[in-house]
Amino acid sequence: MPDAGRMVTIEVVQGDITRQAVDAVVTAANESLLGGGGVDGAVHRAAGPRLAEAGARVAPCAPGDAIATPAFDLPPPVQHVIHTVGPVWEGGGRGEADVLVSCYRRSLEVADELGVRSVAFPAIATGVHGFPVEEAARIAVTAVAAADTDVALVRLVAFDPETHAALTDHLHRHLTG
Ligand code: ADP
Repeated sequence: MPDAGRMVTIEVVQGDITRQAVDAVVTAANESLLGGGGVDGAVHRAAGPRLAEAGARVAPCAPGDAIATPAFDLPPPVQHVIHTVGPVWEGGGRGEADVLVSCYRRSLEVADELGVRSVAFPAIATGVHGFPVEEAARIAVTAVAAADTDVALVRLVAFDPETHAALTDHLHRHLTG
């Protein structure tokens, strides 16, 4: 029997990850942790230049791994940014799915080390990295649901309606078995 007291609540929203009232925000970083485009650019703009300075001190971050820094100028209650590096989609035969599962799992392990209770994730790897949205949404929901974590709330933040629909669909499928 799973311990119901440690079950993570998963919710799906459409919006901007820099505007979520959670303890930690995950960004889809590149290995340098210096900032990039897409969601990582938005997180770095909102957190300010100290985020790249802090990233540089702890980089590199390998694909599938996660490393935390302070959140700097991101608005409270956000205290931490968890930088994870997603797989670059090369057709699916190069372990991309395993790397994406690892991004979610390692980010939640880092969240546990930080002692945080709520974490927001973007749709890692589905932008510039090219991971198919449907499969990425399935992995996001199943990897978070399977995680052995003390985090109480995981919010999956979709930026666009297609990603929102895919995440909502897979969360519904998960909850209804
Ligand atoms: P990757 O390089 O891992 O593919 P991207 O940033 O290109 O990362 O895209 C990942 C996802 O993040 C995409 O669904 C993209 O639309 C979304 N995204 C972009 N900006 C934001 C934002 N401000 N908040 C939440 N999600 C965002």
